[in-house]
Amino acid sequence: MSLADQALPYVRAISPYQPGKPITELARETGIPVDQIVKLASNENPLGMSPKAKKAVEAAISGVERYPDQFDLIAKVAERCGLAQNQVVLGNGSNDVLDLIARVFLAPGRSAVFAQHAFAVYPLATLSIGGELIATPAKNYGHDLDAMRAAIRPDTRIVWIANPNNPTGNFVPYPEVRAFLEAVPKDVVVVLDEAYNDYLPPAERVDVAGWIKDFPNLVVCRTMSKIYGLAGLRIGYALASAEVADLMNRVRQPFNVNNLALAGALAALDDDEFLQASYELNRLGMAQIVAGLEKLGLEYIKPHGNFVTFKVGDGAGVNQKLLKQGVIVRPIGGYGLPEWLRVTIGAEPENTRFLEALEQAL
Ligand SMILES: *Cc1c(COP(=O)(O)O)cnc(C)c1O
Repeated sequence: MSLADQALPYVRAISPYQPGKPITELARETGIPVDQIVKLASNENPLGMSPKAKKAVEAAISGVERYPDQFDLIAKVAERCGLAQNQVVLGNGSNDVLDLIARVFLAPGRSAVFAQHAFAVYPLATLSIGGELIATPAKNYGHDLDAMRAAIRPDTRIVWIANPNNPTGNFVPYPEVRAFLEAVPKDVVVVLDEAYNDYLPPAERVDVAGWIKDFPNLVVCRTMSKIYGLAGLRIGYALASAEVADLMNRVRQPFNVNNLALAGALAALDDDEFLQASYELNRLGMAQIVAGLEKLGLEYIKPHGNFVTFKVGDGAGVNQKLLKQGVIVRPIGGYGLPEWLRVTIGAEPENTRFLEALEQAL
């Protein structure tokens, strides 16, 4: 008998999350020097972090003997989103708030709906507390909202939607999301994960936080890991009705976000110049990578975030050949897409390195 036999069966059934390979790990494995490795595997910001945020984090180091106070960041997020402060829940990364939502609404005997090829944290959050996962088939690699609505059962408590989606980059137009909210039962929580909405062209963005007053079952999740360049600090947040936010706060660790993350996020939110530069670099890099993929004759899914998902046939094999050349992208066989790879938009020289290595690998 092993200890594993004593573990909860639904925990034993979980397949572990596979992160992008760290640069240091590839360096250990291949002997390629760290500074010659290009990592385009985790949708990180190639510009690094906002200089203003960096200053604020450095300043916050004196003060770490004190427990954190979330007040200022909550106030700022609430103000920017036009919500009350009791509608904002901070997380240690937005993964944390996804977990909080699951813990409030799911348990054995309850289910959550998510789409095939959608973000891996939804199954993790659902299964880790014994919820049942209902996966609906994708439509053109993206969310099929009609199928998702039809899949809702009496025991369904959450629908997970990433828009744009990771790892496919698909985007459901906002009017369709709104129609979905009109159609789903009011006692089912709809989680709209907007990790990449900062990369949408400004004219295409819609303020969904303003929808919460019409749909108290809507929870909007955002992260500061992507365009804000704070992935390593771990900070994200949820916007919800006051009632749902209160429930999430009851299961939240009291000090889930650390002092440095709070200070960095507060400063980053105000750095419009950095945000604009990040958006612009992504726009140009996207054009570069898409043009390169077209030149190689490769199929790709129309991107809406800071990454492109493209078809190579043997995803694992091509990935190995890229790694040997010091280029890290993301194989997505675990998402049911073994013929595809996902590449994050980098700075121009990184994109060039990637495209050259890819041509070699093919
Ligand atoms: C990257 C990502 C997140 C953010 O995760 P953090 O925990 O905030 O770093 C959330 N949702 C999706 C779909 C993502 O791709």
